[in-house]
Amino acid sequence: MSETLTHQPKDPDLAAMMSAVVAKVARYNPRADQDRLWHAFKVGSEAHATQKRRSGEPYFIHALTVADILADLRMDVDTLMAGLLHDVVEDTPITLEQLRGFFGDDVARMVDGVTKISDIRSHNPDTRKAENYRKLVFSIAQDPRTVLIKLADRLHNMRTIQYLPPDRQKSMSRETFDVFAPLAHRFGLAKIKWELEDRCFKVLEPERYFAVERGINQTRAERERLIEEMTRPLSEAMVAAGIEAEIEGRPKHFWSIYNKMLKQDIPIDRVYDLLALRILVKSKVDCYHALGIVHSQFTPLQDRIKDFIANPKSNMYQSLHTTVRTPAGKYVEIQIRTFEMHERSEIGIAAHWMYKEGGTEEAEEFSRMVNWLRELMGWQEDVADPREFMESMRIDLFQDEVFVFSPRGDLFQFPKGATPLDFAFEVHSEVGLHCVGAKINGRIVSLATPLENSDSVEIMTSRAAHPSMSWLDVVKTSKAKHHIRRWIRATQFEQSVHLGRDMIERELRKLKARVNLDRDLVEIAQGMGYTDHEKMFAALGRGDLTTAKVMHRITPPEKKPPEKLADLGKNIYATIMRRRVTGVRIQGLDSLMVRYARCCEPIPGDEVIGVVTRGRGVSVHRMGCSNLKGIETERLIDVTWDVEENQTFLVKLIVIGLDRKGLLSDVTEEVTKLGSNIQSGEFKADGDQARVTLLVEVRNLNNLEKILQSVKKVPSVQKVERYQLT
Ligand code: MN
Repeated sequence: MSETLTHQPKDPDLAAMMSAVVAKVARYNPRADQDRLWHAFKVGSEAHATQKRRSGEPYFIHALTVADILADLRMDVDTLMAGLLHDVVEDTPITLEQLRGFFGDDVARMVDGVTKISDIRSHNPDTRKAENYRKLVFSIAQDPRTVLIKLADRLHNMRTIQYLPPDRQKSMSRETFDVFAPLAHRFGLAKIKWELEDRCFKVLEPERYFAVERGINQTRAERERLIEEMTRPLSEAMVAAGIEAEIEGRPKHFWSIYNKMLKQDIPIDRVYDLLALRILVKSKVDCYHALGIVHSQFTPLQDRIKDFIANPKSNMYQSLHTTVRTPAGKYVEIQIRTFEMHERSEIGIAAHWMYKEGGTEEAEEFSRMVNWLRELMGWQEDVADPREFMESMRIDLFQDEVFVFSPRGDLFQFPKGATPLDFAFEVHSEVGLHCVGAKINGRIVSLATPLENSDSVEIMTSRAAHPSMSWLDVVKTSKAKHHIRRWIRATQFEQSVHLGRDMIERELRKLKARVNLDRDLVEIAQGMGYTDHEKMFAALGRGDLTTAKVMHRITPPEKKPPEKLADLGKNIYATIMRRRVTGVRIQGLDSLMVRYARCCEPIPGDEVIGVVTRGRGVSVHRMGCSNLKGIETERLIDVTWDVEENQTFLVKLIVIGLDRKGLLSDVTEEVTKLGSNIQSGEFKADGDQARVTLLVEVRNLNNLEKILQSVKKVPSVQKVERYQLT
C-alpha cells in the first residue's frame, strides 16, 4: 500500500476518477485488492501520459471509463486492471512481457486478447480485420472476460464517436453493428447491446433515428395513460394473491422499435414494444402465478406466449413473454421474470464473475454459453479463408433464432435460415452425414427448407447416403459446415490416393516394371518431400504432381516409350467398380471428383476420356473435343460409362431452318414425343433464317440420334446438330 499511496499522479482529474472507480468496486467487493488496482492505474496513466484523445482529453480517461463500465458490471479486480491497461501494449512502448511480470498471466492474457495483431502479412484490409476478429474470438474462448473489456472499450468509443471524421464514424458504427452488438447479444449483455445498436442507428440512419424519436415523443401521453390503466388492476391483483411484484414500463430501444416497424410494415403506434410492461417478482413460481393473473385479467394472444424460463435462450436469457389485448383493443407485450433473471438478462455472462457471497448456481448455464464459442473455434480451425470465418461467425452470432422440436419433443435452437440439414448435424454428426431426407410437421420437405419456429423436424437417414458439395450452400451453422467439410476433405484425399495410385500403376504396367507400390515407393515419395507414398499418390490424383516426375525417379527417362493420344482409348486399364453415382467410372471415384466438361457435354455412348485437373478432380470430355489438344498425355485417364437406368444428361441442340410460323413448337413437340424433357429453348430469327437452341435431357447417344433424326424431318428444318464448343 505504501508505494501506491505516496504516488502523486500528474493529472489530479485522473486520480479523482480512479478514486471513484475504486470506491465503486469497494462497495460491491469489500475485499478487493485496491493496491493492485492503483498499481495498474499508475502504470497505465504514466504510459499514456503524453497522449490525447481526439476530444482533447488525456488519453487515459478512455481506459478509466472502460474500467468504470466494468465496475458497473461488478467485475473482479483482474478484469478491471486489464481494462485500465487494455491499450498499453498497442499504443505505448510497454510490452506484454512487462505486463505479465507486473500483473500476472490473467491480466496479460486479457490485454493481449484485445490488442490488434501488429504484423499481419496481408495488405488486404478485409483479411486483416478478419484475422483480428479471429484472434479476439480465440481470446474470448480462452478467457471470456476478454469480451467484457472489448465491449466496454467499444461502448466508450461509440459514446465519443462525434469526435471522429464522418466516414470513420460510419465505418466504426457499421462494424459495431455487425460484430460487436451481436457479440454482446450472444453473451447476454442486453444493456450494452441496446446502447451499441441505438448509437449505431443514430450514426448510420440519422433521419430514421430522429423520426422514431419524434414518434415516441408524440405518442407518449397516450401510451403512459394506457400503461397506467393496466398497471393499476394488475398491481391490485398481485397484492391480493400475495405476490410481491414490481411493474414497470419498459425502457425504449429505438433500433428494435424501428426494426419491428420495418419487418412488420406497421406504423410506429402499432409496435408492441411501445406498449410494454415488465413484471419483476421474487421467485420462479411467482412468475407463473403472475402469468396466470395477467391472463385472467386480459385476453392473451395464443401464439405469442413464450416460456423462456423452462427453455432459456442460448445466451441464458430467461423470462415469460405474453401479449395481451386491452379492453380498448390495443396489444401490450408483458415480460415476467425474477429480479435475478432480470439482472442476468442485462449483464449476461458478466454475472458469472460478479462479486457476490457464495453460490455458483449458474455455472452450468455459464459453461453452455462459453462452450458455444469454444466449439465454434474448434469448427473454425479448418476454415482457411478469414472472410469465410467472419461470415460463419456472423451467422452464429446473429440474433434471430428459431426454435424447433425433435419428434420426441426436445427443443433445439438455430440461427434463422437454418435447414433440416443443420438440424441433422445438431442431433449427431452421423445423422447429418447419412441424411437423405427430412419431414417437417410430418410432411416430406427438401433439405434446403428453412426451419420455422415450433416446427417439428424429423430426419431420415440411410447408411448408403453421404454429403455432397452442394450441402455447404444449404447449411447455416458452423457445426454442420465443419462436419461436411471434414468429410469432403477426407473423401477427396482417399479418392485422390486411389486415382494417383492407378495412374502410377498404368505407367508401370506399360514399362512392364515390377514394382511393389507400397514397399518400393515410400522412399521415392520421401525423396520428393512427402511424408509417405499415400500423400504422393494424393498429389498425383489432385493434379499437383505429374506421373512423369515420379516415373523419372523410378526408371531412367530413356527407357520411357513414346506415347500417343490415339493409343490411349484402346488401352482400357480401369477396373470398373459398380458404385452408383455419376455414370462415369474411374476406379470408384464418385461425384466429388468427376465432372462433365462444359465444352463438349458428353453423354453415354460417346467415346470419352478423363483429364486430371489441378485440384478439381477429373473432368470428362468427348474424345474429339478440341480442348483436349495441348493437354499433357500424362494428365489423361481412361474412363468408361456405367449409367443408371433413369439417369439423364443435358445436351444442347442447334436447329437451323427457314423461319415459319410454328417452327419452334413443331421442333419441341418432336423432341418431347420421344420422351425427352426440354430444359430450356431459345428462338432467334435472322431474315428468313431461324435458329432454335434447345437444352434437352437425353439418356444416351442412341436416344440422341433418334431425336436428331426426327427433328431433321420437321418441315423447313435444314440442319440439326449437337452443339460443341470450338
Ligand atoms: Mn481502447
